[in-house]
Amino acid sequence: MIHPEIEKRKTFAIISHPDAGKTTLTEKFLLFGGAINTAGAVKRNKANQSSTSDFMEIEKQRGISVATSVMGFEYKGKRINILDTPGHKDFAEDTYRTLSAVDSVILVVDCVKGVEEQTEKLMGVCRMRNTPVIIFVNKMDREGKDAFDLLDEIEKKLNISLCPLSWPIGQGHTFKGVYSIYNKHLNLFEPDKTKIADPVIEVNDLDDENLHNFLKPKELDGLKGDLELVDGVYGTLDPQLYTDGLLAPVFFGSAINNFGIKELLDTFINIAPSPRSREAEQREVLVEEKNFSGFVFKIHANLDPKHRDRIAFLRVCSGKFERNKFYYHTRQGKKLKFSNPMDFMANEKSIVEEAWPGDVVGLYDSGNFKIGDTLTEGEQLQFKGIPSFSPEIFKEVENKDPLRTKQLEKGIQQLTEEGVAQLFIAQPGNRKIIGAVGDLQFEVIAFRLEHEYGAKAHFRMLSYTRSNWVTSKDKTKLEEFVKRKQQHIGQDKDGNPVYLADNDFMINMTKRDYPDIEFHKTSEFK
Ligand code: GDP
Repeated sequence: MIHPEIEKRKTFAIISHPDAGKTTLTEKFLLFGGAINTAGAVKRNKANQSSTSDFMEIEKQRGISVATSVMGFEYKGKRINILDTPGHKDFAEDTYRTLSAVDSVILVVDCVKGVEEQTEKLMGVCRMRNTPVIIFVNKMDREGKDAFDLLDEIEKKLNISLCPLSWPIGQGHTFKGVYSIYNKHLNLFEPDKTKIADPVIEVNDLDDENLHNFLKPKELDGLKGDLELVDGVYGTLDPQLYTDGLLAPVFFGSAINNFGIKELLDTFINIAPSPRSREAEQREVLVEEKNFSGFVFKIHANLDPKHRDRIAFLRVCSGKFERNKFYYHTRQGKKLKFSNPMDFMANEKSIVEEAWPGDVVGLYDSGNFKIGDTLTEGEQLQFKGIPSFSPEIFKEVENKDPLRTKQLEKGIQQLTEEGVAQLFIAQPGNRKIIGAVGDLQFEVIAFRLEHEYGAKAHFRMLSYTRSNWVTSKDKTKLEEFVKRKQQHIGQDKDGNPVYLADNDFMINMTKRDYPDIEFHKTSEFK
């Protein structure tokens, strides 16, 4: 028996290529849930700004994104937890990690631009964990791609089968609304940014006389033709394929106009999975187990230099988390108690007494946590599924102020533990190499080292663009490889050897020369 508290939880993330409409959609969901009253309450999670200080200023204004990191609200008897992800591609790793803590995602696609670079990368991460995906085709009020062409493109580029649950009538200036295949009614489009719900016209089927009152004969014929084709090509929704991450239901709408949102949200709470069991290295942890367990997927710094403490975001996986109870930190082998765990209901943080699987609690942390750490009631568990990915830019840290060496060391250590970027230690000389996805990450590190730790660093560009974690069944062979390739080896945060390469060609050559060594693109490969 799954506890009703678990069953009612829907924990997910809205993801998209920047500008497709993730923030707008999040905001509309919160409006429907009554969690906010006015549009504009969700701060744009953007760093289009070219300078770091602008970016840091924005982060500060957002309350260091703590308030919007998780947005919980009640809707139709369900507890909805939306996990926010950074929009900027330079912070993609943060997004990938957040995806380890959700049970499903809504992927927003811009109907004008179709599938974009970040859309493909995000889908790749969802596929690694078979995360169920719903696709929302946004901006239907604009002249975009033909719906069939767009679905073709999505299916091919994202490599997933689709099943439209609504269908658009017209597009751009001819956009009339959508026909809900799932609920069998017509939603008429009225461009309006303030209204809450769309006018819904109930119809029995496509021959319903009522449809003639709203659609011109040509539009109705077009819709009928389209739906026949849709039925023939895509069939009806198989919920199991969706929860297995093999099939994505598709909705069409316009987030800015509040159109198609209620339909999406209502269907979402019906079909999206509740928290499920999760794999730990030792065993599968069932969601209904009595004992509490959870893992840290995000660490947020307090940017106020006077208060160095951080907030660790813990996803509850089983049992019940309770305030002021001792829990076992499995990596450090010690017990910890939290007197002020935070909850994120209605976009405000408050102290929480208990939390259930699917919930995210914020724990004040004075340096105990690293990303991926597991808490239990005593059992030695380590949750899987929070890998590091290969960065694309590598720079060596050079100390600019020898009198502040200790501060620099501490700063680099803490910032990389937070997951701002990845740290690799290279020999000889314990050189520090920082790996990141984008330049903005280096700017943030430099800014924070200076403002929070009083240290100054210079980052020297290296020629690497890939990191591969290396293993071998033969321990001696691995040791030999690490020795031979010393100038290309770094140790990751857990002390595992990583092969740093300039390009794929170099990796392939090395693979050929060392057939006993296995190369892995992420840190998790069991
Ligand atoms: P994000 O980067 O994915 O979070 O995208 P935003 O939600 O910030 O939206 C990017 C831009 O697209 C903003 O200017 C929005 O006002 C606009 N936008 C969002 N939804 C729609 C829509 O349905 N139609 C149109 N025309 N514009 C939209």
